[in-house]
Amino acid sequence: ESPARLGAGADPAELLHRVFGHPGFRGRQEEIVHHVMAGGSGLVLMPTGGGKSLCFQVPALCREGLGVVVSPLIALMEDQVTALRQQGVAAAALHSDLPEDQAREVKRDLARGAVKLLYISPERLTLDGTLDFLARRPLALFAIDEAHCVSQWGHHFRPEYRGLGLLAERFPDVPRLALTATADPRTVEDIRAQLGLTESPVFRGGFDRPNIQIAAAPRESERAQLRAFVKAAGDGSGAGIVYCGSRAKTEQTAEWLRADGHDALCFHAGMEPQAKRDAHRRFARGDAVIMAATIAFGMGIDRPDVRWVAHLDLPRSPESWYQEIGRAGRDGLPARALLLYGAGDIALARHRIEESPATPEQKRIERSRLEAMVSIAEAATCRRRILLRCFGEDGPERCGACDVCLDPPRLFDGTIPAQKLLSAVVRTRLPSGGHFGLGHVVDVLRGRVTAKVAQFAHDQLKTFGIGADISELAWRGVARQLVARGALDVAVENHGELVPTEAARPILKGEEKVMLRAETLTRPSPRERGRS
Ligand code: ADP
Ligand code: ZN
Repeated sequence: ESPARLGAGADPAELLHRVFGHPGFRGRQEEIVHHVMAGGSGLVLMPTGGGKSLCFQVPALCREGLGVVVSPLIALMEDQVTALRQQGVAAAALHSDLPEDQAREVKRDLARGAVKLLYISPERLTLDGTLDFLARRPLALFAIDEAHCVSQWGHHFRPEYRGLGLLAERFPDVPRLALTATADPRTVEDIRAQLGLTESPVFRGGFDRPNIQIAAAPRESERAQLRAFVKAAGDGSGAGIVYCGSRAKTEQTAEWLRADGHDALCFHAGMEPQAKRDAHRRFARGDAVIMAATIAFGMGIDRPDVRWVAHLDLPRSPESWYQEIGRAGRDGLPARALLLYGAGDIALARHRIEESPATPEQKRIERSRLEAMVSIAEAATCRRRILLRCFGEDGPERCGACDVCLDPPRLFDGTIPAQKLLSAVVRTRLPSGGHFGLGHVVDVLRGRVTAKVAQFAHDQLKTFGIGADISELAWRGVARQLVARGALDVAVENHGELVPTEAARPILKGEEKVMLRAETLTRPSPRERGRS
């Protein structure tokens, strides 16, 4: 293709077909392309593999002037430039790893107008010389890829991205399209503020992976639950991934799966480099294996036929869970995801956040991510809808492909136990305003005279012993569901003390019913089961 056939006047749909060989746009691509074609700026939130590149490549090629793409990843830049050149597009890259003679050649090509799409690293772009050069020629657009690198909220902040804010001032008439797979609301607002996009639209989409059937269950017998899942989800050919919360657990899990007759491997960051490479290779080669791994396993996996992903421990955020289950079913065929969780996971995850060296603000963010994850695990309504809402995407009321939709949990009117628990929380409040943690509240409900109960004379309370008929495990279930619906807050900075919220008031006053999962009260605790 000659560059002469690009530029002003080219038709996006026609160009999509002619240059990229695609029959049509996907999802919100068309809307975004038209927005930029008309000179608009904006922020695109799409998951990895969602098709972000075309959102800027097509309008860059259809508009007059040079398209400038900022990217922090040199390898990715080179890949895209190579692919574009093969498609006949005059693309080039400028970054610090480029040998000086090649950089000179690119600059020469730029000067004589022989480049249509320029990939550039942020530090190169923000050099005075580069900006002055760009200011003197027609520009089709600026695309800012991996835009979350501009935000300090996440873990990906790159100081060299900070300078990109000046694009808005220096090039007010050139469309700016920022793109990221990160959809965390704080990061999104930060990106918009930093890049001068607060008045521009946000395009979200493509987060749903409808071919992945999702399910979650409280951990009861981990091995039996995983066995049943593997039996239902595996088709004997593709691969499966079991994510574990610790390195030791990946090894134990691989071991018992092998004893079960599966070809199971393990992977974690502590393994010898050679062992890691071997595991990676066997997985990549297409063997029908099960990989028991920590989250260290995942980067660069693009095996299309992963049939299932199981989590034996609670992921730390909906984003992590989404990314990890997203490794299943890339071929578009049916795939499954299972999440097992326990009250202990939640407590441990909270503890880890508190112990981490993060700033108080980061800890707060981590806590809210964890709470969102807990509410997905505890969902009594469509799980996918709750997950998608975490990314700001509105799914249908019922997806029809999650365990809640397929087999709605039996609910019962749990208003009375909910009121009992909330009132125990309220009545044990200290004169100082402090609250107790769940363990103590449950002791009070169950009428146990512990040292702490005696110390605070909580055996004198009206609520003492009013919940003796309900097991400790069941009380924890009630509490989790109250946390999930926002009636209770867990003040992590104060050793997990339970604090009633505004949403607790109508429940306590009997103005609001609380529906709980039926199994909450009927499921015997493992200890109780052991006794019988
Ligand atoms: P992202 O940058 O969001 O991770 P990409 O832009 O790399 O995603 O696109 C992911 C894959 O989807 C690529 O292989 C791309 O060719 C393909 N793709 C994107 N849009 C379309 C489309 N409209 N039609 C067909 N394939 C598409
Ligand atoms: Zn659903």
